[in-house]
Amino acid sequence: MGIATINPATGETLQTFEPLTDAQIEEKLDRAVRAFNAYRRTPFARRADGLRSAADILERDAEKLGKIMTLEMGKPIKSAIAEVNKCALVCRYYADNGAEFLADEPISTDARFSYVSYQPLGAVLAVMPWNFPLWQVFRFAAPALMAGNVGLLKHASNVPQCALTIEEIFTEAGFPHGVFQTLLIGSDKVADIIADDRVKAATLTGSEAAGMSLASAAGKNIKKTVLELGGSDPFVVMPSANLDAAVETAVTARMLNNGQSCIAAKRFILVGAIADEFQTRLVEKFQQLKVGDPIQEDTDVGPLATPGILENLDQQVRACIEKGATVLCGGKPLDDRPGNFYPPTILTDLSPGSPAYQEEFFGPVALLFRVPDIEAAIELANSTSFGLGASAWTTVEEEQEKFVAELEAGAVFINGMVKSDPRLPFGGIKRSGYGRELGRHGIHEFVNAKTVWIG
Ligand code: NAP
Repeated sequence: MGIATINPATGETLQTFEPLTDAQIEEKLDRAVRAFNAYRRTPFARRADGLRSAADILERDAEKLGKIMTLEMGKPIKSAIAEVNKCALVCRYYADNGAEFLADEPISTDARFSYVSYQPLGAVLAVMPWNFPLWQVFRFAAPALMAGNVGLLKHASNVPQCALTIEEIFTEAGFPHGVFQTLLIGSDKVADIIADDRVKAATLTGSEAAGMSLASAAGKNIKKTVLELGGSDPFVVMPSANLDAAVETAVTARMLNNGQSCIAAKRFILVGAIADEFQTRLVEKFQQLKVGDPIQEDTDVGPLATPGILENLDQQVRACIEKGATVLCGGKPLDDRPGNFYPPTILTDLSPGSPAYQEEFFGPVALLFRVPDIEAAIELANSTSFGLGASAWTTVEEEQEKFVAELEAGAVFINGMVKSDPRLPFGGIKRSGYGRELGRHGIHEFVNAKTVWIG
């Protein structure tokens, strides 16, 4: 696939882009090194000013930026604008807290004075996905730049306008030339760039296949990586749950971003007697959702980002049906219109050999499972290779503690949906990846924790 803006609501190719030549990549890597050598010496206060200016620009242009995202990958405009504002939030968060997170940490030893000093690494390559085209990048860039690193962005090939706009935002915010650069390149160039001495570390958000490929290339060159990969998050509903809140949240948690979120609730595990009522209400709510043009304010569910994603989701649903699944609503692509539209879908009676048990469903499809008790719920929740987030609904304190202790995930949310928040670390275990973004943990991923001993 080339680098292009293709409207997922119509299938129309709006603009194509030439990838950088090898000579242009060289020039940008050189520029990153030159920028780092000066930028690493700037005080935190200057970096914070830059991040605050970036936040101002994001807020000023929220509508315009939201429209670019909607045009390139189809998310409903309301959530696109909300995403831009969240990017402003993460910039301000690190502007306000970064210096404290990276302050020297004194440690008493036999030295006259000993401490840990956190120092930037240099150029960090960020390979990013299209699903949250701005948020994914800003949550990498804000801490990385605050720490004194410089960023190189290889964005997904279907969001080039987002990619170029992000560089423009950092430039307008006053960051020196070369501190944040977008590389319009295909994924075939990534391994060579990681191998280059001028690049010190890398982070990737995306599929397992891409994560494995990037981590192998980085491993060969002994470079630090952070991987944020897929998920098949469980959403467990116990008999004591507040059903109104659980159903309402289930809809949002599954439909966010047209169902294309790594931390979307994907497997709904219903325990005991609550199952029938939950299922009936969820079906009703799904049927009320408005599917359509994502640029319209009242659209709840827009198109999937690419024809490939639609095809993959359709195949997964068909495989479940072949293995005996019951379709409670939706169940096949909307072929009465152009674009990559798939309706809100609920499947139940899922058999263990079907993809529902192991694969990530990246679209508006809820998978319903019924189990007799909390033990069975936790066993099923933990039975995938993923370990990103988990949501559990119960008002019984002992059950809450059991979920916190036993769910295998990078995050457990009790009586709420899994979401990212600049203040809280974000990341997975198992095949969902390693390392953390956001919070204090996030800014510590790409720094040298240098031990200093002064006699
Ligand atoms: P993808 O195909 O892996 O693409 C993600 C990025 O990786 C793109 O920039 C892509 O470039 C690049 N890429 C693909 N193959 C590569 C390779 N072999 N080597 C180096 N780079 C490569 O992912 P996707 O299917 O578009 O995105 C959805 C996935 O991301 C889902 O699994 C989702 O759960 C995950 N995700 C995870 C998080 C998280 O925080 N854990 C957040 C959002 C999404 P091209 O576009 O040029 O191929």
